[in-house]
Amino acid sequence: MTTRLVIFGPPGAGKGTQAEILASNLNIPTISTGDLFRSHMSEGSELGHLAATYIARGALVPDEVTVGMLRERLEAKDVNNGFLLDGFPRNVAQIDSLDDLLGEDGLSAVIQLEVPEQELITRLVRRGEESGRSDDNEEVIRKRLAVYEEQTAPVAEKYRQRGQLITIDGTGTVEEISDRIAQAVADL
Ligand code: AMP
Repeated sequence: MTTRLVIFGPPGAGKGTQAEILASNLNIPTISTGDLFRSHMSEGSELGHLAATYIARGALVPDEVTVGMLRERLEAKDVNNGFLLDGFPRNVAQIDSLDDLLGEDGLSAVIQLEVPEQELITRLVRRGEESGRSDDNEEVIRKRLAVYEEQTAPVAEKYRQRGQLITIDGTGTVEEISDRIAQAVADL
């Protein structure tokens, strides 16, 4: 059986960190749309230039661009045994696109990390100081959290209605959180 997962949550919830641990335990690739955009930007590709203007503002890159990039990534052979999506779907329309891309089998589950907002801001400001990611400054962080509330949070509701949402407490140490996720995935 292939494991087709989404890791879901607001910016700063720890999706990237937990995705890396979970994907390596399951021996499946992580597909992060944010990382795909960042590699396009560092290569200076046309798509990278287009995405950069949205990313710098904390806005979502238009769906057609994002979906096209994801479609191409899902054509690679390494996703045959499954994958873990990080950062997609990020609005309700992207759920339909993902349904189309995946066809009949669909997703195994959506893992939602829950973290209180004040903790998110603290984590993101710290990450900005350490990583130098240009969109981790306080103004853009607030914008990204607002975009999350408006456009991305409703995605969780849709998957909850489908019975596919697994909510995990995203506070505590990295290991505590990854243990909770591992247990939930083992029960699938
Ligand atoms: P992330 O690394 O997931 O925080 O993504 C960084 C930025 O990339 C976001 O703030 C968006 O501008 C853009 N981005 C990532 N994933 C998506 C997506 N699924 N749809 C639209 N924009 C995205």
